[in-house]
Amino acid sequence: MGGTWNRDDCQGEVVSDFFQMTQPRAAKPYRCAWCGESIRRGELHQKAAGQWEGDWQDWRMHDECYQHSVDTEELQDGFSLYEGERPEIEVLIACPS
Ligand SMILES: [Zn+2]
Repeated sequence: MGGTWNRDDCQGEVVSDFFQMTQPRAAKPYRCAWCGESIRRGELHQKAAGQWEGDWQDWRMHDECYQHSVDTEELQDGFSLYEGERPEIEVLIACPS
């Protein structure tokens, strides 16, 4: 996993200047930036590092939280740390229609 996030196929506009997603396994417990729940040690999760409107940011989310934030476009529009709702696990990654 990895590479530059690209929403061209979803026809979205990316607010970030650039950022990179990786899917590491947690070497220690982290807190999910979306729902605020813990990401357990050893759990695969999404890690983002990059620059949004000039500010460097670095956060981690559960896989399903990240996907939810992408699907709802809240990731682009801006979200409040730890205030999201952890979604049911979904396998599908759908582009907004
Ligand atoms: Zn979460």
